[in-house]
Amino acid sequence: MSDTENSKQMKYVFVTGGVVSSLGKGLAASSLGALLEQRGLKVMMQKFDPYLNVDPGTMSPFQHGEVYVLDDGAECDLDLGHYERFTSGVLSKFNNLTSGQVFDTVIKKERAGTYLGKTVQYIPHVTDEIQERLFEVTRRNPDVDILLTEIGGTVGDIEGHLFLEALRQFTLKVGRENVCFIHATLLPKLRAAGEIKTKPTQQSVAKLREIGIIPDVIVCRVEKEEELDDDNRRKIAMFCNVDEKAVIPFADVDHTIYEGPLNLRKHFIDRLVVARLGIDIHNPDLSHWQDFVDKIINPKHRVKIAVVGKYIELQDAYKSIYESITHAGAHHSTFPEVVRVDAEEIEEKGAEAVIGKVDGLLIPGGFGDRGTEGKILATQYARENNIPFFGICLGMQIASIEFARNVCGIEGANSTEFEKECANPIIDIQEDQREIESKGANMRLGACESIVYPDTLAHKLYNADRISERHRHRYEFNSAYKERLTDNGLVISSVSAKEGLVEIVEVPNHPFFIAAQFHPEFKSKPNQPHPIFAGFIEAALEHSQA
Ligand code: GLN
Repeated sequence: MSDTENSKQMKYVFVTGGVVSSLGKGLAASSLGALLEQRGLKVMMQKFDPYLNVDPGTMSPFQHGEVYVLDDGAECDLDLGHYERFTSGVLSKFNNLTSGQVFDTVIKKERAGTYLGKTVQYIPHVTDEIQERLFEVTRRNPDVDILLTEIGGTVGDIEGHLFLEALRQFTLKVGRENVCFIHATLLPKLRAAGEIKTKPTQQSVAKLREIGIIPDVIVCRVEKEEELDDDNRRKIAMFCNVDEKAVIPFADVDHTIYEGPLNLRKHFIDRLVVARLGIDIHNPDLSHWQDFVDKIINPKHRVKIAVVGKYIELQDAYKSIYESITHAGAHHSTFPEVVRVDAEEIEEKGAEAVIGKVDGLLIPGGFGDRGTEGKILATQYARENNIPFFGICLGMQIASIEFARNVCGIEGANSTEFEKECANPIIDIQEDQREIESKGANMRLGACESIVYPDTLAHKLYNADRISERHRHRYEFNSAYKERLTDNGLVISSVSAKEGLVEIVEVPNHPFFIAAQFHPEFKSKPNQPHPIFAGFIEAALEHSQA
């Protein structure tokens, strides 16, 4: 019997992973989400992460890549960024559950006496808490057809076990006919043997079955599709107890991750899923998606964009920024070649030597003082040499400090984040936030409405008087310096609607110089590039052609 019997029956897809981590499970899940949405279904995606951090907000980018921020201010796993880019569902803090959150809730309930004297146990108390999240999202989203949940980690890990046990119990409650299990694995290729190996997949599925979960579809990560030949497909199907058609290759993408849905569609994964769930619905319309991918694959122009940061060697640290650049590039049929520059390299060699030949400079967000002087040098170089400039969060603070020092001649201009006792704190912590001690609690987080002033670059780009963008920072533009900077020509083109905090600054008489305190990269999508990113790439294109 179903818990949601009287309302529309929500269907559930669970994506687990086996053999190794980092096999593209998030991309597979997002691609499936996109396909189901293009079939006309309302899809919502979420992630269960078995680690003990309550959220990834406290993790270093070296550990976890980018922290993705939602409208409601939740600091999430970067896979949620993929979900929002591949589907149209707007996610909330309920869409990312970690073991840390689960245990935090259970322990608080125990302290509050909620369990009425019972011994509090992994089963049922912890597993119930995990299932409660599935029911919670179901209740909150009555219009959703399919809730697609990716389970982080690898089957067989101790820390993921409770999540899988919870899914098994949950399936009993909502009915097996309403649940589809997808297991993503790796088919490793041994060079010496010259062939792929199915044994790790078999063993990983055996592990799942031990827990009581039988996958309906097995997605096999391979280098090339052909590697999963009929023999291997048959073998996997037989040992893993699935239909041969439900053994699907997921090859490395040739050009872009946005090929993911197209690649999976070739093997009708979405058809398998809707058939499994008893949903009768039309085929997906992928024409817009295909157009977008075509524009990425066959660009007409090319620009060089320098991203000057601190975690530059990490592909995932600025994930959403790179994706936003891709979206904007496709929009202008332009291939944006991203040159990743370590800010400290600029401190050593000077800006000209490192970024002298680029068509655009982007300074992304960041924390701490390492590399900030290099970023200031780069910004000065872009401002003085008419190179299109786009600053994001820390990048906006850097642009303001650079302007204060080099245009207004304010000595010792800095941020109190980098130099506590600096002579002129252009960027400072807000007075009312100073007291809030607990880590993370004093950040401006999530969506915030702001006003855009007319006759500014920002207004031209957004074509709107009011915007809503997502934030994640502690420090702000110090309003005590507003006048001195604007008297010297800095344009403040947007302020927050409530507190009047500076949101966007611009340098006029420059082809394109704009910097935002918020994170526009969290709101860019395929075929809907963010307006500032689109304008930035357009300006870079003009720069390259000049
Ligand atoms: N470190 C800066 C602050 O906390 C900028 C943060 C960011 O770029 N996300 O205000």
